[in-house]
Amino acid sequence: MKRNRLVRSSKHNAIFSDSVNYFTRYRYLAHFIILGVIVFSSTGFIGSNDEGTGSMTLHSNVIDLPGLPATEQVKTSYRPETVPPVINTALSTETETALQQAEVTASEQTHVTDTQQNAPDFNWEEIIVKAGDNLSLIFPRSGLTARDVYNITQLEKDAIKPLLNLKPGQTIHLGTLPGEEDGKSLEALKIVLNPLETFYVDKLEMGYEAKMVTRDVDVRQQQVTGEIENSLFLSGLTAGLSDKVIMEMAYIFGWDIDFALDLRKGDRFKLIYDEHFLDDEKIGDGEILAAEFTNRGKTFRAIRFTDSEGRGQYYSPEGHSMRKTFTRTPVPLSRISSRFNPNRKHPVLKTNRPHRGVDYAAKTGTPILATGDGKVAFKGTKGGYGRTVILSHGGKYTTLYAHMSRYKKGMRTGQRVRQGQTIGYIGSSGLATGPHLHYEFRVNGVHRNPLTVALPKAQPLPKKYQTDFKEQATPFLAQLDALQETNIAAGD
Ligand SMILES: [Zn+2]
Repeated sequence: MKRNRLVRSSKHNAIFSDSVNYFTRYRYLAHFIILGVIVFSSTGFIGSNDEGTGSMTLHSNVIDLPGLPATEQVKTSYRPETVPPVINTALSTETETALQQAEVTASEQTHVTDTQQNAPDFNWEEIIVKAGDNLSLIFPRSGLTARDVYNITQLEKDAIKPLLNLKPGQTIHLGTLPGEEDGKSLEALKIVLNPLETFYVDKLEMGYEAKMVTRDVDVRQQQVTGEIENSLFLSGLTAGLSDKVIMEMAYIFGWDIDFALDLRKGDRFKLIYDEHFLDDEKIGDGEILAAEFTNRGKTFRAIRFTDSEGRGQYYSPEGHSMRKTFTRTPVPLSRISSRFNPNRKHPVLKTNRPHRGVDYAAKTGTPILATGDGKVAFKGTKGGYGRTVILSHGGKYTTLYAHMSRYKKGMRTGQRVRQGQTIGYIGSSGLATGPHLHYEFRVNGVHRNPLTVALPKAQPLPKKYQTDFKEQATPFLAQLDALQETNIAAGD
């Protein structure tokens, strides 16, 4: 087993290494940009599903911070501070608008001078969200008033989602000005949602501003080789792979290799894949970029290719899709406990009953994946089959999945499913000796052996992508070759 890091991407996001610092430093900048340049963008982590609504008093946009990569964006939303309606009724709409405009103009100027001075240091208080909590309960606990709650809830709902969906155990940081112990009002609020997203509310001259600051992960390429000792899963773990990468590798080669049946001791694999880092700490795995699997002396290679619409798929070096109309196995990491056998004695009924499918034994709750694109033709309890799903794959093919412990949540009859999509979970409902999937494959209504039936051919890579694919694939193929040489040289 070998692991060596190939490429270390630049540390371009070091600026985000201290989010509080970032917050203070860019507070003025973000604010100034809102008043001036508002750049709509649809790229990046949070931008894609942003509708960018706007009205007289409300803006919600994705803003490009100059000098920062386009993918590191700040989503902001602000609304002029709303005076509670009781006081408000005295003003006509016209006056109100005029006042707001005057306010905005004034604050534009004061902010330029503001930044010349040091921003005040806030008193920060940490509040842990309890079950059933909301802002009206949380704010008073820290001496804040209903007016603060009111003003914040006046912001666009989309912009303050984290505050509307508080989760027990979350930490809210509340910032107030020092020396305001009696009449405190909220100056800033922060919730770290996950390592990549932090939500901020900031008090500006004209009202509160909510924003989401997202960080980009540092992507580094990793290459790993391994040899099968016992199971694919254990050998993968030994080679330092995560569950996710092992599953993906099994999925990529799942059309050519039946991992439950064909795997042998001494089979080998090589993987080139992305790892995600944040502040030099690994936070997860990205996509497999290239892979090789040698099964019983036969070598398969797969290269990831992303088309112009951003869809990534795996192709053989010749440009044939790794993905075929059907995968051989619906439970990649399992073992076959019973094969297709027209003359078998039923293990529970003890009578001569043909076994017209294949049984895959795995732990209760293991996901069962649709072997092909199709439609849910049946979902329900079916005698000895227990909880069963039947998929129809257009025309002559149907597949059946029995003994499920439960169905995939939200799945309905008539619904379309994609190949590889989870449709249910391993169980032992109906007549079953233990947790397993009973899987049947029918062609024109006739049961066929899922392990040997001739499956429809693979889709080729569209002609228009051939050149691009060759360009992308060549260096990866060279890398896979080199990986082999390294191993031979190292003598393992
Ligand atoms: Zn069976």
